[in-house]
This record gives sequence, C-alpha cells and structure tokens, in this order.
Amino acid sequence: DSVFASVVRAPEDPILGVTVAYNKDTSPNKLNLGVGAYRTEEGKPLVLNVVRKAEQHLVNDKSQIKEYLPIVGLADFNKLSAKLIFGADSPAIQQNRVTTVQCLSGTGSLRVGAEFLAKHYHQRTIYIPTPTWGNHPKIFNLAGLSVKTYRYYDPATRGLNFQGLLEDLGAAPSGAIVLLHACAHNPTGVDPTLAQWEQIRQLMRSKGLLPFFDSAYQGFASGNLDADAQPVRTFVADGGECLAAQSYAKNMGLYGERVGALSIVCKTQDVASRVESQLKLVIRPMYSNPPIHGASIVATILKDSNMYNEWTVELKAMADRIISMRQQLYDALSAKGTPGDWSHIIKQIGMFTFTGLNSEQVAFMTKEYHIYMTSDGRISMAGLSSRTVPHLTDAIHAAVT
Ligand code: PLP
Repeated sequence: DSVFASVVRAPEDPILGVTVAYNKDTSPNKLNLGVGAYRTEEGKPLVLNVVRKAEQHLVNDKSQIKEYLPIVGLADFNKLSAKLIFGADSPAIQQNRVTTVQCLSGTGSLRVGAEFLAKHYHQRTIYIPTPTWGNHPKIFNLAGLSVKTYRYYDPATRGLNFQGLLEDLGAAPSGAIVLLHACAHNPTGVDPTLAQWEQIRQLMRSKGLLPFFDSAYQGFASGNLDADAQPVRTFVADGGECLAAQSYAKNMGLYGERVGALSIVCKTQDVASRVESQLKLVIRPMYSNPPIHGASIVATILKDSNMYNEWTVELKAMADRIISMRQQLYDALSAKGTPGDWSHIIKQIGMFTFTGLNSEQVAFMTKEYHIYMTSDGRISMAGLSSRTVPHLTDAIHAAVT
C-alpha cells in the first residue's frame, strides 16, 4: 500500500476549479467567465505586441545571459516598478526610502510581504475586506498573520458599505495591518471615490493602521496607469509608511511569467535598507531568487519611452473593451426587459462584475446554458464578447424570472 494512502482528496480551487469544469463541458455554446484573464473579441488569450517586441529585443541582445538574479531580483525592474506605482516624481523614491524586491507576481509579492510582517512587525493582525479575492485569507494565514475582516460591499446597493468600512477600521486595534485593493476591487468591482479614499487615509493614519496595497490591476480599471495609482500615491504623499504588492499579470498580460514586485515605503533610507536585508532572508529559503525572463520583458518596456507608450495604448484598448462589454450587457438586459436594476454592471470597475446572482442561479446558468463563473455570481467581463452577450443575457433573464 502507498505510504500516502491516508491522503484525502482536496477540493478544487474555487476559482481555478471553474476552468476545470469548463474544460470538461462539450457544448459548443460553453462560455468561461470564471478566471480573471483577458480575452479578445474572438475569445482568445492575448499577448501584447509590445511584449512580443521586447522579447525579440531580448533574443537579439547577446549581452543577455541566464545567470541567477540577485535575491531581490532585477535592479532595473525594481526601480521602474516603484516609479510606475508611486509616480516618477515620488519624494519617497527620491529620498531612497523605498525598498522594492522582485517577486513571483502579485501572489508572491503578497506572501513575501506577509512573511516579513509576521516576523518583524509588532501587530500581527491583518484586516481584509468582505468579500475579497479568495486567496487573500490563505496567503496571510499561512504566513502567520491573524486575519480579520472589515465590511466593504453592500449587497442592497451593490456598492460600497462606506459607513461599515469606517466603523470596522475605526474599531481595529492600533497598528493593525489593513489590506486595501489599490483599484478595481476583486470580486466586487466597487472602489471608493477619491474623496472616500481621503477619509480612509485620515482614519488609518490617525489610528496608526498600516496600509498594505494589493495592486493587481493598475491601468486595467480606468485605462490610465496614473489614475489607477492615485489612491496609493495619496498614502505615500503624507510621508507615512506602507506596503504595495504589484502584479504585471493583467496589465501586461504576463500571467504565466509570474512577474511582480513588493515595495515597502519606510520613514528613512536607513530603515528601508535594513528592511531590505530582512526581505532577503525571507526570500532566500523560499525560492532563492526570482526568474529572469518576465522581469526583463517588463524592464525593457518600462525603460524605453516608445515601448512604454505603445504599452499604454494596448492597455487602454483592453480596458476600453471591458468597459464596452459592460455597456453591451447592460443594454441587452434593458432591451430584453429583464427584471431588476442592472445599473451596477456599468457602475462597477475593472475586470469583474459582481452580478448579484446567487449560487443557485449560477448553478442553473451553468447547467442550462453552459456558462461558467464563480458561485458568488462574479463574472469576468474580459471573457465576454459582442458575440456572446446575447447568450449571457438569455441565461441571466432565465435565471431571474
Ligand atoms: N490580487 C488580486 C486582487 C487578484 O485578483 C489577483 C489575481 O487574480 C492577484 C492578486 C494576483 O495574481 P497574480 O499572482 O497572478 O499576479
């Protein structure tokens, strides 16, 4: 008998498991709105032209070698990533009080940040919004932090529960860590306004709460990289400290390259360099040092003004297609006279719409219409196209009537 005979089967991941089920479906009408990955109008994955160009450039550059990167990753990549999120003119960067380390996409950046906090920060409680990306509680728990929640989404308005958020953060113990989605909140698509962000900032700073930004969608929400980074930048502008986990999965379409960065903004250059020395001790026994290819692509694009501009155009096109899908779905439901208020579809921001459909309605749509999504009713707008909007509209209509 196997020495592993007592191992019990684990459930599929709630998000990635949707794709597993989708792949088994043989219907020609099947539609995968589960995973958060961009698709073209034709339903195909997209490699950005500027990424192909950067890869070509790397292939032709004979100085490119395959040696190990340092523990903290590619130096150019780290500098340029900090500039991208905090702004080229950020005083924190100019004062050398930001440490940035290359990590394995957004997930790896969150994990390294969490491991560092669990070892070196005095308050080991992190507050995450309800709901949030399903991986958040697991990442923080396994790193050794104690996970608590703050109210975020109001099902009644399908918008922000701002009062609940302020109450819960107001009641958090001094020094607690707070996970904030930098923009395009997943799964709800609901973001605070800039005025609300300002109130959140004042409350958090007055209570000494430590902001940990998860920035997985910079540029994907509005189509503008600077606009989407504005909430993060207002927290850095006040001179206080914070952490930020960046992912290039969505905004550069580099999903499988696993390229991201963790930045920690500190009060002084001296603190930042000590923090970095400890980040190295977190990373070295976990995966030694990060992979070189994806970070080289990003650095090549970010340091060349032509390629950078080309990227912003392609990024805006992705964001615009998603915004147009929102409008098309909303218009189709209105035209069909589907009962209910569907205006949240055009109000919500980013890759996902939190439809308000319950798990039974979702199961019905999967069974009868071969449409796949997470059981909380979240649909990836990027998986939708003009061709498939009518099918989804019919399914939603049937599910709610
Ligand atoms: N954070 C949020 C809120 C996300 O939605 C995602 C991806 O779906 C991530 C982080 C991390 O993704 P990755 O590790 O692929 O960069």
